[in-house]
Amino acid sequence: MAEDLIVERPEGLYCPPGDFYIDPWRPVERAVITHAHGDHARVGHAHYLAATPSRGVLRARLGTDITLQTLAYGDAITHHGVRVSLHPAGHVLGSAQVRLEHGGRVWVASGDYFVSGPGDVNNTCEPFEPVRCDCFITESTFGLPIYRWGPQREVFADIDRWWRDNAAAGRASLLMGYAFGKAQRILAGVDAGIGPIVVHGAVETLNRAYREAGVALPPTLHLRDIADRSVLARALVVAPPSVHGGAWARRFGNASDAFASGWMQLRGARRRRGIDRGFVLSDHADWPGLQRAIRATGAERVIVTHGYEAVMVRWLQEQGLEASAFRTEYDDERHDVTEAAGTTAEVVGADAEEGAE
Ligand SMILES: [Zn+2]
Ligand SMILES: [Zn+2]
Repeated sequence: MAEDLIVERPEGLYCPPGDFYIDPWRPVERAVITHAHGDHARVGHAHYLAATPSRGVLRARLGTDITLQTLAYGDAITHHGVRVSLHPAGHVLGSAQVRLEHGGRVWVASGDYFVSGPGDVNNTCEPFEPVRCDCFITESTFGLPIYRWGPQREVFADIDRWWRDNAAAGRASLLMGYAFGKAQRILAGVDAGIGPIVVHGAVETLNRAYREAGVALPPTLHLRDIADRSVLARALVVAPPSVHGGAWARRFGNASDAFASGWMQLRGARRRRGIDRGFVLSDHADWPGLQRAIRATGAERVIVTHGYEAVMVRWLQEQGLEASAFRTEYDDERHDVTEAAGTTAEVVGADAEEGAE
């Protein structure tokens, strides 16, 4: 039997013939990085290879001194006889699937990905591109049948309506979302004509990297730039979830607060967090999206990483595919995952509800 092109090692996912790792969680000599989220792109590797559009966000997060080689989407390099190319994953700026070709076989490691459907709008990164392969390594962050996203156009219309109503009532709209990826997806999707947009410093750092990469985002203000605080009563404030309940958020007085995340599909997640609104908006594929993406690869073998591995593996096996899971140390949307803690009980309940309807 031919050797697998990617195997598990204590340091991370390893390509034996190429002698490099993909998104390793321990320091290694050579790392191919799918995207700049903290659990996939870590400090301490000697050499980094990533997609060209991720250059700015990677340096913003890992430091300007990393040894970084970039590759345009679709271009290939050969390392120890393994042909490596990177393809858009639609997840965040510069996110890539890694295609490996060796000995006549093709493997693709997806990292994290988002698959657009009708009514989805996202101008902050290249859309997901299906890549044909023999073996596909898929994430499964939202790999349960209850996760089904509505068209993003409708989600943004809801956000705009909430913001407009708050502005009319004279209160700020505090919208929390992951600072890298989610925040920019929000900024690019809302109607910036409703009022001023204020962002937290953590969001601004990433905004700068997006703008430098040529992504159009509406004008944003920092709190210190605002002389007349009365404008805050009409503002949309975009900040990471960590500000919730803290001193920074309290500066906005009686603001309405909301959270944008795929986890908002679960009613309990919103209730537990004690926020006014939840918007179901994700950078990850939903259950139908995962299935669509997997089918489009034509892969006969699928390996499932972080998320609902067991459910996904069972479904894939039912489709007649060879399926198994890799145990990884990826923990995407770390802030959001605290939301999902205890989801098992909740999901069982939600499933039952869904079945009853
Ligand atoms: Zn990610
Ligand atoms: Zn991830």
